[in-house]
Amino acid sequence: MATKKNVIRVENKPSSASSSSGKVFTPTAEAKGKASQNRLLAIVLWALAVVAEVVAMVILFKKDPEIALTTGKRVMLIVILLVDLVLLIAGSGFWKKANRLNPPSKASALFGIQSQLGIIMAAVCFLPVVILAFIKKEYLVGAIAAAFMVGGGAASADYNPASQEQYAAQTSEVETLTGKDFVYWTKSGTKFHLYDDCRYINTAKTTDIYSGTVAQARELKNITELCSACKDRVMKEKGISEEQLQQAQQAAANAIEGTQLPTTEENGEGEQAE
Ligand SMILES: [Zn+2]
Repeated sequence: MATKKNVIRVENKPSSASSSSGKVFTPTAEAKGKASQNRLLAIVLWALAVVAEVVAMVILFKKDPEIALTTGKRVMLIVILLVDLVLLIAGSGFWKKANRLNPPSKASALFGIQSQLGIIMAAVCFLPVVILAFIKKEYLVGAIAAAFMVGGGAASADYNPASQEQYAAQTSEVETLTGKDFVYWTKSGTKFHLYDDCRYINTAKTTDIYSGTVAQARELKNITELCSACKDRVMKEKGISEEQLQQAQQAAANAIEGTQLPTTEENGEGEQAE
């Protein structure tokens, strides 16, 4: 029954095993390091986007509101705003990647801000220039900057923000079903699978199937959902009922809520979900 596809095992250093069932999700040291690098890159790109915005604002600031800009200056302004937009979206891409590598906790008051900082940056990178353009009666440039703000904000939003709670719940679901944190996914897919020969990934057009932990599936490709066909299959094969799965999930959720209390990690060692 096994697939004939090339199954690529994503490297997972022994020291970097992520936490499992019932415990809160803790990123590996490697993932944390990569997250910091991505955050730094995001901040540098966003800072450059603000520099581009400031350059555009200086041009607008010097302008007499009653005298229209030359076409050349207008084109230059639009090009600068385009650079601003590209830098904003690139920065947001790194920021979203960092959040997937080292997700914030939903319990944190800053969860929304950290998850959607890209949207805030879209406003920072464009709102002042939009306002200034309208004050200076440079309506075309103002309208373009406003459109870039909206488009840049939409591209910077995280539509499925990662959280430690979600990672822990997804990992515990997979562990409850299969006994281990191990899943398969493909380059173009949006779901992770429990079987490498699942009909959704073992297709004619698939050449490579990746495998690793639930967290790795998200880090690398932002895959956020368990394949329902794989879930049904394993539940049928192992005779797990939806009720049993929910009970195990609830137990894991309770354990996550209780993590403020000192945990006895050693006791959990070698514990396996049935
Ligand atoms: Zn599947």
